[in-house]
Amino acid sequence: MTTCDFALIGAGIAGASLAAELAESGARVLLLEAEDRPGYHATGRSAAFWEECYGGPELVPLTLASGDYLRDNGFLTRRGALYIGREEDAGELDAFMERFGKTGATIERLDRAGLEKRIDGLREDWTGAVWEPACADIDVAGLHAHYLARARKAGVQLECRARVSHIEKSEGAWVIGCEDGRNFASANLVNAAGAWADTIAQMAGARALGIQPLLRTVAQLRTNPAPDPDQPLVLDISGRFYFKPEAGRLWLSPHDEQPSAPCDAAPQELTVAEAIDRLEKVVTWRVEVVERRWAGLRSFAPDRLPVYGWDPKVEGFAWFAGQGGYGIQTSPAAARLAAQLLLGLERDEMTRRLDASLYDPARFH
Ligand SMILES: Cc1cc2nc3c(=O)[nH]c(=O)nc-3n(C[C@H](O)[C@H](O)[C@H](O)COP(=O)(O)OP(=O)(O)OC[C@H]3O[C@@H](n4cnc5c(N)ncnc54)[C@H](O)[C@@H]3O)c2cc1C
Repeated sequence: MTTCDFALIGAGIAGASLAAELAESGARVLLLEAEDRPGYHATGRSAAFWEECYGGPELVPLTLASGDYLRDNGFLTRRGALYIGREEDAGELDAFMERFGKTGATIERLDRAGLEKRIDGLREDWTGAVWEPACADIDVAGLHAHYLARARKAGVQLECRARVSHIEKSEGAWVIGCEDGRNFASANLVNAAGAWADTIAQMAGARALGIQPLLRTVAQLRTNPAPDPDQPLVLDISGRFYFKPEAGRLWLSPHDEQPSAPCDAAPQELTVAEAIDRLEKVVTWRVEVVERRWAGLRSFAPDRLPVYGWDPKVEGFAWFAGQGGYGIQTSPAAARLAAQLLLGLERDEMTRRLDASLYDPARFH
């Protein structure tokens, strides 16, 4: 049996980034992944944007704290984002400005003329927007591979096809059993299992926190005209769609949030049709073909904030879960903070301004 300081369950962006941070601080780390390859679930299915206001004001510090790392390592390409609204949404656009005005996010209110400069073929009833110039595309595959490479270099042992099926404590250590009969031992256990976070907690005898997977759908469309490659990410201020160009195609989501059991999520035709219907009410472009569609699970704690740190009741069991719809864009600061919390290290430049109590699992006990 392998013995280590930390066994992390799940090698999506959460597990990969935290494994790298822990191992680089000297811990012996084991990273267990159920699938053939890391990144098969939420991490490999994202819409790949870094958007300062996404997830609400309490998330902005994590997103901003991650921005420099992502930029400095070449993972961001500037795109800009527009939250758009109709005449009747003016109040909502103003409220958005008010809500995020003091968070440090760079935002600006635009009128119809400002909108027309940024989206071709916009239908007439869209009259206002909030402009967020710093929004960027994230090279998600590159970022995930970067963390896995950092982890490997720091000595992390990655085990794929290691679906954890039972967990017990024996003589002060965790014994982690996999479906294929392999067993591993570790002093500490970290739950980075995304949609399966509550399942893993229960296996380990910890209380489930109510982390709920919500299904989100994305479709890749060929449109006529093809989207301008520099067009911003466009989000509905009322949360009914977003779309952005991607390599000559359009990625469109109806911003759906269907509660789901943890699973290999699949898109539904009806949801894609709804998304297209909404798009056609925004722009005059013709949708020619749905080339690809996919769905993934975004997993939220009851207050929609992530959960990082030691479980208050079960010794040696830690959470790194509930990354919701922003687990990629927050990963550098989230992983650094979580490693500092688990190892009892001082905060550094990246994490100094973060309020860890917001993300503490103890808030649910
Ligand atoms: C459609 C969509 C669009 C999104 N867009 C964005 C975006 O633009 N920007 C952004 O920042 N975020 C976005 N997100 C959210 C982001 O993808 C997630 O927050 C992030 O990927 C979560 O990472 P994770 O590692 O926690 O989960 P996952 O990537 O799901 O990883 C969890 C891993 O745990 C493994 N696991 C589970 N149970 C076991 C077990 N018993 N044994 C071993 N391994 C196990 C799973 O196999 C899985 O690989 C989006 C998500 C979706 C679905």
